[in-house]
Amino acid sequence: MATNREVLRLLHSMRVEVDATVDATTRLLVRGWATAWDELAREWEGALTDLVKASTDGAWPSRSQIVRAERAMRALDATRARLDVLSTQSGVSIMQGMPDMTAAAAEWEARLTAAQMPTTAGTQSALTATFNRLDPTALEAIVTRTTTQVTSLLQPLSARATQSMTASLIRGVALGDNPRTTARLMLKRVEGDFNGGLTRALTIARTETLDAHRTASREQDMANLDVLGGWEWHTELSARTCSSCLAQNGTVHPVDEPGPNDHQNGRCARSPITKTWRDLGFNIDEPRSLTPDAQAWFGNQPEATQLQIMGPGRLELLQSGKVSWADLSTKRATAGWRDSYGTTSLRDLTARAAA
Ligand SMILES: [Zn+2]
Repeated sequence: MATNREVLRLLHSMRVEVDATVDATTRLLVRGWATAWDELAREWEGALTDLVKASTDGAWPSRSQIVRAERAMRALDATRARLDVLSTQSGVSIMQGMPDMTAAAAEWEARLTAAQMPTTAGTQSALTATFNRLDPTALEAIVTRTTTQVTSLLQPLSARATQSMTASLIRGVALGDNPRTTARLMLKRVEGDFNGGLTRALTIARTETLDAHRTASREQDMANLDVLGGWEWHTELSARTCSSCLAQNGTVHPVDEPGPNDHQNGRCARSPITKTWRDLGFNIDEPRSLTPDAQAWFGNQPEATQLQIMGPGRLELLQSGKVSWADLSTKRATAGWRDSYGTTSLRDLTARAAA
């Protein structure tokens, strides 16, 4: 029932392991994009130099001039083709560690459960071995579902990135005195649009890796309903943590509820909570839970950190008592992704305070 020191230690190690998986994927994706851009940059340099040359009377070429500019259109086609390949490779990179990671998730869940049993119940390794293990086919199903989800999220990446590159080309740039400076400025913009695809791929990698981990954890929990009473939301308390995750920290949810469903790129962890010792047949009083109190932690932070996390408007509403700690987190829908909890907008908080 209680989160103790060993549970916190295991949660930390689990987070380190998941982060290592995500970091390995991140490195592969970043390298893929950098190599691709190195190859495309020369083509774009030529195309943009042409466009600068084609500008008349100090004005960037018109939309119709741009769509007829051969080199620019060729660079765009090459970019689209490269992004299609990158997109497919990203899917492979993201899925690479998934079978091992989901299997490990089930193991972590068993260890987290064993760590909450009284010492009279047996050694942790002996206990861990007694728990039901989820079916290997359940793990395979998670991996298959994740592959489908990753593929569908990556699918629009190439079109989106080339669309924003086209938009930047058409929007153009104020022409300076030096044509080379102008071309370089445009190259930076187009590169930024190209890297927007990388940002999306990284978000998919992080979010879907953690979700697969959480789903495997949930399946393992479901196989052990006889000993579990729920799961607890664990947030890493840091200056980079958002208000929503802080507000969710320590909340307890039914075993069958998926989660923690934090926002995209979120890193919150699911920790199984056993039934009370008495419900499990041990006539012993339970120790107090050591789950950190996020609100108390926040209250102890310097004002600069509090402002960085919440912004002045939210902080004022919270400190004046017009909104509660729990009001800071709101469920929202995002097309293509599962529903998630994110920081309540200042507008909604203000409306809640007025009501
Ligand atoms: Zn967050």
